[in-house]
Amino acid sequence: MKVFVMVDMEGISGVVRRGHVSEGDPLYQQGRKYMTWDINACVEGCFAGGADEVVVYDSHGAAGPNVVWEDLDERAEYFIGETGRERMPGSEGSDALILLGYHAMAGTPEAILEHTMSSLHWQNFWLNGRKTGEIGVDAAIAGEHGVPTIMVSGDDKACAEGAEFIPGVVTACVKVGLAVEGGRLLSRASAHKLLTERATEAMGKADQIAPVKVEPPITARLERVSRGRLPVRGEKPYVTIIDGRTYEVTAESVEQAIWRL
Ligand SMILES: [Zn+2]
Repeated sequence: MKVFVMVDMEGISGVVRRGHVSEGDPLYQQGRKYMTWDINACVEGCFAGGADEVVVYDSHGAAGPNVVWEDLDERAEYFIGETGRERMPGSEGSDALILLGYHAMAGTPEAILEHTMSSLHWQNFWLNGRKTGEIGVDAAIAGEHGVPTIMVSGDDKACAEGAEFIPGVVTACVKVGLAVEGGRLLSRASAHKLLTERATEAMGKADQIAPVKVEPPITARLERVSRGRLPVRGEKPYVTIIDGRTYEVTAESVEQAIWRL
């Protein structure tokens, strides 16, 4: 069984401040270590649960690398740095997807580092009329390839969002959000133990979790944070302007819709 682990940074255990996930900030080097440890704990659980191939994608920020490469578990393979325009490079032929270190969608109260795609530019996002964050988007893209999302890790809000979008998904709640930049955290040892245990559990449940399906045609609506940042009216046939900050694209798939935005 091949497992693809897509890793973001905001939901990593130990991460609470923007600085932890922002290149150039003094806290960022800590964030990198924490991310690497969470990956190793998850990879451990995947192999314990019967995986024979684990591929990990460092997906936070523009290009990274965020992970501390020299400290990564030797049994997995890693996609790091600039990997092209694919949302999930290296995921071909996967049997299951894990969303590790994910965060709640933009606007979720008391969620650590909540946002959808870009805290600077995206205010709200809807997929076929349903308000959706990155967990829902990535589960849906994997679903378009017939791949179930078997586990989500992050704070309690991210885990709740995962459970709502992906029936039966295994969650690993490594912290409870109390504010955008603060929460109640497990210790390092407890968080890693939880991630390993839940990854093993998720492996055992993989065949019981259905791939997420969002029915085409896809309509993706984006409300931007600022005015004056909409596509030019009439330039692209699949774009509809809704108001001064909001527009929609239509597409055949969620993956295509995301690129069309
Ligand atoms: Zn991120």
